[in-house]
Amino acid sequence: MDTNIIPSLTEDQCWRAVLDRDSNGDGRFVYAVRSTGIFCRPSCPSRRAGREQVTFYALAEAAARAGYRPCKRCRPERTEVVHPHSATVQAVCRSIENHEEGVQTLAHLGAETGLSPSHLQRLFKSLMGISPRQYAEAVRLERLKRGLKDGEPVASALYGAGYGSSSRLYEKAPVRLGMTPASFAKGGRGANITYAIVDHAGLGPLGKLLVAATERGICMVALGSADAELERDLHDDYPLAALRRDDASLSEWVSAIVDLAEGHPPHADLPLDIRATAFQCRVFEQLSAIPCGKTRSYGEIAAALGQPGAARAVGRACATNPVAVVVPCHRAVGASGSMRGYRWGLDRKQALLARERKEQQSR
Ligand SMILES: [Zn+2]
Repeated sequence: MDTNIIPSLTEDQCWRAVLDRDSNGDGRFVYAVRSTGIFCRPSCPSRRAGREQVTFYALAEAAARAGYRPCKRCRPERTEVVHPHSATVQAVCRSIENHEEGVQTLAHLGAETGLSPSHLQRLFKSLMGISPRQYAEAVRLERLKRGLKDGEPVASALYGAGYGSSSRLYEKAPVRLGMTPASFAKGGRGANITYAIVDHAGLGPLGKLLVAATERGICMVALGSADAELERDLHDDYPLAALRRDDASLSEWVSAIVDLAEGHPPHADLPLDIRATAFQCRVFEQLSAIPCGKTRSYGEIAAALGQPGAARAVGRACATNPVAVVVPCHRAVGASGSMRGYRWGLDRKQALLARERKEQQSR
């Protein structure tokens, strides 16, 4: 367990609790899965990953700090922690997050928790893997990114994030800000793509599922009825890439996508490595915000983007979505709810929406 100490539990006990979906483990630790980038509470009903994919953390905050995102199904970040040490460190995290200007001293944080500065530093580091100061830096950076994403001007976002002057930001932030461009050039030049094709019972009328990925993330998800058809699809999109089939290596992502195709709400934020224009990215974000089982018209999506005249461009962006189901372009419909085109066939679009509605009703 890297630098983390989970109070009073060994790793083996943690893993046992995960396998048993033991709710007594909730609030004592969370577990994170490398291949999906998600962390869960032990009782989460989602599929179990292999032991070698899993890391344990005493606190949701520590898993988040390590780059994992909370599962949307079990909401591990909302669990009440059990151990008093965990509660203390969590309170320090809250205090840092709520402190908007500058950085608090260890003495100040210690006084709030009743611990000496050195004791606080040790305890915090043992559970979080980083010092309170490093945590404060990370929190400020996130606040800044959020401000920039919401369209706040850079200067005011900087101010709101607690940075005294913009020069500080550019020293620390540039590699972590902004959208990540695709790791390959047009046509897939320079990409090593591994793909899997599965014929999962859960897919039912959707047929077969192809999932393709680079080292950085998923670059294509497609639906079809035959392997050859799906392979042709992949080759058409990435004619210049090196393609290799390996069904086993992508199994974690495949099962997360099968879950989506069954109509379950997402529990994993799947890393994507796709080429898209800024406009397409904004459309894909809007699509992802449509609740499971609901639809929006191309015009409504355009209006939400602040470009009410761009319904046709939204339609084109949907038609060029490279990752079926993961970016839910099946939730975009024509005016008055008519089923318009779908890259993978109208029948599949209807089937996906029907499954999502059914799944929503059964909740
Ligand atoms: Zn979960």
